[in-house]
Amino acid sequence: MEDGILRAISTDGTIRASIATTTNLVAEARRRHNLSYTATATLGRALTGGALLASMGAKDGQVTLKFQGNGPLGKVMVDASPKGTVRGFVENPQIELALNSLGNFDVGGAIGSTGYLHVTMDSGIGMPCSSTVELASGEVGEDINHFLVSSVQKGSLIIVGTHITSRGVEAAGGLLVQLLPDHTEETICQIENNITTFGTFTFLMRRGMGLEDMLKRILKGFDVHPIGEVKPLKFHCQCSPERFFEALKVLDQEEIISMAEEEGQAEGRCQFCNEPYLVGKERLLDLIQGSGS
Ligand code: ZN
Repeated sequence: MEDGILRAISTDGTIRASIATTTNLVAEARRRHNLSYTATATLGRALTGGALLASMGAKDGQVTLKFQGNGPLGKVMVDASPKGTVRGFVENPQIELALNSLGNFDVGGAIGSTGYLHVTMDSGIGMPCSSTVELASGEVGEDINHFLVSSVQKGSLIIVGTHITSRGVEAAGGLLVQLLPDHTEETICQIENNITTFGTFTFLMRRGMGLEDMLKRILKGFDVHPIGEVKPLKFHCQCSPERFFEALKVLDQEEIISMAEEEGQAEGRCQFCNEPYLVGKERLLDLIQGSGS
């Protein structure tokens, strides 16, 4: 199944939802960054969370999530846009932890339960809106829920999951539900009960269920129907050789000269997608002449 996201609304307009499958883009992130299992599970949840939050925003907007906890994985960054693109990285991609007491990848241990989640929502118009919340558990979904409850909208629920085996990323995806204020704790409870009854998100995916069917299962009891078609989602980064070259302009002339003379080139990688870039000696020296004129 291709990655995609589907938005939905209840007939009475009191529930909005976005449901996403992200298996391929999580596998792409794993390949690009050479992620461990624990890092794949962590970044997979964060990429899915970013895509879901972005889907609720304005068309030209952007959502950035930064998890900064006290765990060994270090910083986890994700950028997502409502156009269906998402990119991200973890600071220490090789960190591998033992499974937790539930037999799951120890995402909470990897991020750490003490620290902060910074969320920036840019609508594309005016100043971006940033908020910071303390991490709830470092399990990603709970932390984003904590952000939603304390910063944006009380009645919101996000579920993100990644299922990885020795064969690779077998399923990844999630669901974001937004409820209007007249909904109560019981509504959230009912959705959680549905998940307990029907199985986790990735379990349903692995049974070959499509987005619309999963939505109906998880939101059983609510009269929810899709808005529009499934929109494709993909791992995509805006970096390019030109942008890498432009970024070199912040370096001192001496640094550029020494790179040109000693290395014969400048070499670097995009932090978000790990794409390697190379600038040859001649272009480096052009940079100095360019800045002198
Ligand atoms: Zn990049």
